[in-house]
Amino acid sequence: MTMDQSFIADSAGRAPVVADADVLVVGGGPAGTAAAIAAARNGAKVTLVERYPYLGGLASGGMVLVLDDMTNGPEITVKGICQEFIDRMAAHGMAVYPPAEDRRQHIEMWKKWSRWGVHDFHSHTRPQPITYAAAFDPDGWKRVSCDMIRENKIDLRLHSWFSRAIVADGRITGVVCETKAGRQALMGKVVIDATGDLDVAASAGAAFTHGSYILTTVFRLGGVDTDAAEKFQFEEPEKFLRLDREVKRVIGGSWEMWWLKTPLPGVVWCNCPHMTGYDGVKVEDLTKAEFEGRTRIYAMVDWLRKAPLPGFEKCFVVDVAPQTGVRQTRLLDGDYVVSKEDVTERVHFRDSVARGRDYYTPYRALLPKKVEQLLVAGRHYSATPAAQKVSREIPPCMAMGEACGIAASMALQGNTAVRQIDVTALQKKIRAAGGDPGDIPAANAKILQAAE
Ligand SMILES: Cc1cc2nc3c(=O)[nH]c(=O)nc-3n(C[C@H](O)[C@H](O)[C@H](O)COP(=O)(O)OP(=O)(O)OC[C@H]3O[C@@H](n4cnc5c(N)ncnc54)[C@H](O)[C@@H]3O)c2cc1C
Repeated sequence: MTMDQSFIADSAGRAPVVADADVLVVGGGPAGTAAAIAAARNGAKVTLVERYPYLGGLASGGMVLVLDDMTNGPEITVKGICQEFIDRMAAHGMAVYPPAEDRRQHIEMWKKWSRWGVHDFHSHTRPQPITYAAAFDPDGWKRVSCDMIRENKIDLRLHSWFSRAIVADGRITGVVCETKAGRQALMGKVVIDATGDLDVAASAGAAFTHGSYILTTVFRLGGVDTDAAEKFQFEEPEKFLRLDREVKRVIGGSWEMWWLKTPLPGVVWCNCPHMTGYDGVKVEDLTKAEFEGRTRIYAMVDWLRKAPLPGFEKCFVVDVAPQTGVRQTRLLDGDYVVSKEDVTERVHFRDSVARGRDYYTPYRALLPKKVEQLLVAGRHYSATPAAQKVSREIPPCMAMGEACGIAASMALQGNTAVRQIDVTALQKKIRAAGGDPGDIPAANAKILQAAE
């Protein structure tokens, strides 16, 4: 590859250089947006690249509309930029969460809050306790993202599909994107892969494993009388259960609650249909999944409009999520690979830089083994497939992004490699910015001699 000031050229052709950043973030989902904001707040010149015309990834385009996995009961474990998103959306009436006095186990709280999806679904007790989680609106997320990008003077490039990493002597120096204006090169002193599918790290030659999990074409229904639906559920439980089972049979694959309330009156989101056997990075599979999902959705809506399920008589499809609900594809095989036991047994790491519900993410799980100046944040972080399934919610992904953004800017300020930064100093900076890196283990954490 050759490069002059304004073009790169290799066997794939020439591409003009359209950005030259300190920190280049690829993927504008929850992890990437948090990474870009954190890096900019720490003094870096940041470029953020996103393939779609909006920010938010699965949180907005994927219409995944509950932020959970951010409390261990007594303690809120994910704070920082995630909490700022909640506060800003709530100020616009676009996020709803239970006040502290409602966060407890009580049948009245269950009736009041469970259809917002803010209950502790890991709990085996019934009714499940109401916990700290936030239901939000996808356009509320996009609005807040735009505000924060503008305020932090981030160079945002939408409509840009990452296609290839630029690597020289084992170090990533930039990326190539496909755009309507042709191929474009973007350079960065540090690159953060936040594509969710490890597109950048895989292209740069980093080791990974290929996981998979169910795919879902999430959708929203409008025209729903949620009061009538809840009244029926709580006042006629046997009839409700019979009909609810039937809806689930028609859609073919959903969690226990197939619909949840949103901040928009009469609009509910449906985290279904779940589909198995598809690979979330294969064009053929993604295309088939979209067809299968929509076929099942329309069958369900036709059924709902005919069946006597109170509240749903006049429902209609508002939209099917523009980003396919892919939970897991490529996972980094990084300096440390988080195991399911690490997550479920709450193993504490001395280099923890992010928390989820009650688990910790070590900085090493964000570092690829061989490629230098590359960090990885989000659902493709270095974990086994079984571990990722239980540690991939939006808040912990944002916490990883925030840690990577600060780490990248620290490396540049200290003129050092991201692999070499002082992790204790990083933890302090995360705390100073309002986040919780997990440097102080909670009372229920497991401290292993071997877990550094
Ligand atoms: C159906 C479903 C239900 C879920 N339910 C919940 C829930 O209730 N609560 C919860 O907290 N979490 C939930 N999750 C998990 C959560 O949504 C994700 O794990 C989280 O959004 C991951 O964030 P991310 O930033 O790592 O990835 P993503 O949200 O996938 O964002 C990746 C971003 O990168 C962009 N991108 C990807 N490839 C390229 C490319 N080549 N070029 C340019 N840009 C690119 C994408 O467009 C996107 O904006 C759910 C997930 C699914 C699929």
